Amino acid sequence: MLIENEFSLDHCPFCQSKSLKDKGKLEYPTDLLFSSVEIDLKYEPRLIRCLNCKSGFTNNAINESTAVSLYTLSDSSARWNQGANFLDSKPEIISAFLKKHIARGSNVLDIGANTGELLDFCKDHIGTNTFAYELSERSQEKLIKKGHKVINCLQSIEKNTMDTICLFDVVEHLYNQNEFLLNLYDLLSEDGKIIILTGNINSLSSKLALNNWWYLKAPEHVRFPSLKVFKGLKGYSYLGHIKTVNSNGYKSTLTQKIKLIIKFLIRYKNLKYTGIPLLSTDHYVVALKKQVLLKEGND
Ligand SMILES: [Zn+2]
Repeated sequence: MLIENEFSLDHCPFCQSKSLKDKGKLEYPTDLLFSSVEIDLKYEPRLIRCLNCKSGFTNNAINESTAVSLYTLSDSSARWNQGANFLDSKPEIISAFLKKHIARGSNVLDIGANTGELLDFCKDHIGTNTFAYELSERSQEKLIKKGHKVINCLQSIEKNTMDTICLFDVVEHLYNQNEFLLNLYDLLSEDGKIIILTGNINSLSSKLALNNWWYLKAPEHVRFPSLKVFKGLKGYSYLGHIKTVNSNGYKSTLTQKIKLIIKFLIRYKNLKYTGIPLLSTDHYVVALKKQVLLKEGND
């Protein structure tokens, strides 16, 4: 399927600054997949960095409406499912962070729930009620079988009912993250939280790999927010974050790290470092709290 990928911005999608730097083309793999759909791109995607908020984004990206159709067509579980339960696949630091921020008996909504591994963890290990929002119809069937309540439309959720909304591996796919997160505001209960896992474009691994960073080279990934974006997000206050790897499969051994450093030191020929094996963590999880907006005219 040939895709006309010419969606570009002349400003930062996070802070609106026009102080940008074009960091050059992104070499996507040949035999390109968008989720599980084979695609060909007409134009070369480019990495743009915002000099103000230190985030990144892709220009010559796939148009948002085309992306939504491709997600709906595809079987996300075939692409992203790691085939293991949450505790086996995710670093312990992530499950500890969730336990710290999520209360027993509370309502947890997972956006981009895939086949429900995060919700399984919340239900079985924290004792929460679980709600899933997922575009892939194949994944929806699996979520229902597991006993998670599938939400087809975010607007159908009753206001002030969700205590935690999780977005794991999601915001890098969102064309307008700030607006999307602001739209979740009304769904959250009074002390409601949002917990986000995404790639860290300012990590050591990313800085060493530059445009060759593996995380940038998936056509679904178009936005790479810095931590600074979350610390200044409208409607929310920052609670804390942890630096981590996405899943245990990405962890590298000390031997792998030493070998890589030696390659760097001797300027190993044709060394095109992709960020793997990891020299540092390259993701972070951030928790935000719904900020109570003061009503005008109240004494
Ligand atoms: Zn910016």
